[in-house]
Amino acid sequence: MLSSLDLLTANDTKGVHAPSYYSATANRQTHHPALEGDIRCDVCVVGGGYTGLSSALYLAERGYDVVLLEAHRVGWGASGRNGGQVGSGQRMDQTVLEQRHGQAHAKLLWELAEESKKAVTDLITAHGIACDYTPGILHADHRKSFVPESMEYVEHLRLTYGYDKIRFVGGEEMSEMVGSPAYHGGSIDMGAGHLHPLNFALGIAEAAEAKGVRIFEETTVLSYEGGDTVTVKSQYGTVQAKHLVLGCNGYLGRLDRKTAAHVMPINNFVIATEPFSEDEARALIRDNVAVADSKFVINYFRLSADRRLLFGGGENYGYRFPADIKAFVRKPMLEIFPQLEDARIDYGWGGTLAITPKRMPYFAHLAPNVVTATGYSGHGVAMATLAGKVIAEAIDGTAARFDVFEKLNVPAFPGGDRLRFPLLVLAMSWFSLRDRLGF
Ligand SMILES: Cc1cc2nc3c(=O)[nH]c(=O)nc-3n(C[C@H](O)[C@H](O)[C@H](O)COP(=O)(O)OP(=O)(O)OC[C@H]3O[C@@H](n4cnc5c(N)ncnc54)[C@H](O)[C@@H]3O)c2cc1C
Repeated sequence: MLSSLDLLTANDTKGVHAPSYYSATANRQTHHPALEGDIRCDVCVVGGGYTGLSSALYLAERGYDVVLLEAHRVGWGASGRNGGQVGSGQRMDQTVLEQRHGQAHAKLLWELAEESKKAVTDLITAHGIACDYTPGILHADHRKSFVPESMEYVEHLRLTYGYDKIRFVGGEEMSEMVGSPAYHGGSIDMGAGHLHPLNFALGIAEAAEAKGVRIFEETTVLSYEGGDTVTVKSQYGTVQAKHLVLGCNGYLGRLDRKTAAHVMPINNFVIATEPFSEDEARALIRDNVAVADSKFVINYFRLSADRRLLFGGGENYGYRFPADIKAFVRKPMLEIFPQLEDARIDYGWGGTLAITPKRMPYFAHLAPNVVTATGYSGHGVAMATLAGKVIAEAIDGTAARFDVFEKLNVPAFPGGDRLRFPLLVLAMSWFSLRDRLGF
């Protein structure tokens, strides 16, 4: 097995974005220098995804001198390759969180999740980020037996959290909203939305640069040493900082063993079809909302601004991507949309995300002046953006909201950072088998 640090290089070319629809339609290319020599700053941030970029921006807005180190390019990781869905709530339903953590903590988590979506739209507005933000996520039940639960959950959100932007969708309406026989009902959440993820990341980076953040690309951090001043080492340079933020998510490898024991990297894949006419596109998804279904290995799809179907589905638990990603994802796409048999697939790409055992993010102080935030478990567009905000608050002396996450006490994976992998493969394979066999 490859060491997980190799995920930074296993499936990609150094300094080059994934061959995605997003990189082909990026608003700009970034060309920051690599770090050479020794520099100092208040806060060193490792990782140029939403976690790192938003930490850097919010810290710079508070007057900190920030250096951000990224192994490839800004937005190169999951933040530049994902499904673009800006979902409500946490990765786990509120009913589960209430049982696990009690009503009061669950409520704080809901409120933070609401703020996470607002953080996304606020950044878009404040910095004029052109990333095609569009409201609406449709949750589609692939089993009839799930439909009553969807109805109850909508009611629960309304009554317990006063959330009125979501409503139940019955079977007939569902078949009008999505041109597929696969779904029996669900809910539509107009408080959620979807966007072009890479352009969103590039927009935050531009805002951070404007606030004075120094960004270094093609700079892989090899190690760090703690203390009152943290020393962060890359191949050709060193950063001495008062604080360190790790925002490496699925690409962390063994840079920090404690963080690594709490998260598991998994790969997920997306394809983009040829562009469709307005009528063809609307026959697939009538209202231009994003769709996420109820399968264990979730199918998620939406239309791009130029009316391609962007379809995500298929996970693998090895480190290498499948040789033919287009064929790999086309299969679940045709299960949902058999009418696309002849559609051309223009792009296919993969990315790596981090999950935790209980699918809630892992926020921790690794030392008084070293923080990590990761493990958004496929729900990180909004949550990783918010992470930067609460990290900036914590470094600035107000850790109350960081604590709401830290107090989740996310457990480590059984087997620590070495044995977790085979155990996870077993568990995941079992759940996806259940999906396929329908029990
Ligand atoms: C295919 C796919 C689809 C997804 N769909 C959705 C979705 O629709 N909605 C949703 O909410 N979430 C989704 N996610 C998850 C979401 O993309 C992530 O949760 C989020 O982007 C995490 O942001 P991040 O900044 O923490 O990590 P990343 O964006 O992965 O950034 C981490 C960065 O750290 C850098 N790095 C790592 N180690 C080092 C090092 N040693 N030195 C220097 N740099 C380093 C990497 O190069 C990388 O750029 C999806 C993920 C994938 C892969």
